[in-house]
Amino acid sequence: MKIERGVALGRYTTLGAGGQARAFARPTTVEDVERALAWAVERKLPIVTIGLGSNLLVADEGVDALVLKLGGELISAEVRADLLIAGGGAPNAVCLHRARAAGLGAFEFACAIPGTAGGGVRMNAGAYGSDWSEILRRALVVDERGARWLTPTELGLSYRRSALEPGQVVARVEFRLEPRDPDEIKARVAELQALRKAAQPTNKRTFGSVFKNPQHALTAGLMLEACGLKGHRIGGAQISPRHANFIENADGARAVDAVALMAEARRRAHEEYGVELEHEVQFVGPLTLPPCGR
Ligand SMILES: Cc1cc2nc3c(=O)[nH]c(=O)nc-3n(C[C@H](O)[C@H](O)[C@H](O)COP(=O)(O)OP(=O)(O)OC[C@H]3O[C@@H](n4cnc5c(N)ncnc54)[C@H](O)[C@@H]3O)c2cc1C
Repeated sequence: MKIERGVALGRYTTLGAGGQARAFARPTTVEDVERALAWAVERKLPIVTIGLGSNLLVADEGVDALVLKLGGELISAEVRADLLIAGGGAPNAVCLHRARAAGLGAFEFACAIPGTAGGGVRMNAGAYGSDWSEILRRALVVDERGARWLTPTELGLSYRRSALEPGQVVARVEFRLEPRDPDEIKARVAELQALRKAAQPTNKRTFGSVFKNPQHALTAGLMLEACGLKGHRIGGAQISPRHANFIENADGARAVDAVALMAEARRRAHEEYGVELEHEVQFVGPLTLPPCGR
């Protein structure tokens, strides 16, 4: 496995912004992942695993870490009985396709989530009343101590959260699904995709929801809309005119533009509603948000 230097990460993210990785590797087997982790530990380099970069904001100055992008057998998916067995880097679209072809349902909600099986475990991704914790049987997690299977409880899955740490790589995922007519699955997917298209920007570069929904009557999107932030622009980044909890790359956005918009959104939500919005998007590299009050 080759370790590459200075790989630009923007093209591995759905936003299309961000600097370089100090080191970059594409492990294709669990053994490769173990070797990559040992290499990084020896050099005291942090690890960042990326999936399809659909919930990532990468710092413009890049990241001083070994970035792993899974490949080979770690991006494939197959069905065995009622189990969908996927590599940690398998795109949700591939998983959904395999499940539907085998007449297995319960993964339809993921048609709206443009990430991977492993990224979904890390984020406990979810939509339309379901999430990874509902269908996950177990995940093979590799860290510097080796590889072991963890259950959803051991993974500590809750709303857009898991207990996984950056040095822990989800190499394989097993989902337990249920028999369903492929035509019924197809119809449900079409219905969910139409709902998504009507409510969110689907033809723009974004990183999905910026903030988690707060414990409040208003969702983050409605709160930011009520603060008058739809269409607000800083540099090349813009709060989506369609849905205020999305930031679009309007024109050559930099991470710093997105962070400035996030800071402004948090400041306004705090001022108007006394709520401290927590970001859902994952930061890679030296990015921070100022406290809400400033
Ligand atoms: C248009 C759009 C719509 C979206 N809609 C939804 C939605 O409805 N619901 C929802 O939950 N999310 C949504 N998202 C966000 C995103 O798709 C999910 O969070 C997704 O699960 C991220 O997967 P990923 O593989 O792209 O992970 P990345 O964005 O690459 O990474 C996200 C986090 O997971 C970690 N990670 C990734 N892969 C692994 C791995 N194999 N092992 C360990 N850690 C890993 C990363 O280090 C990072 O911390 C949306 C995003 C977009 C762009």
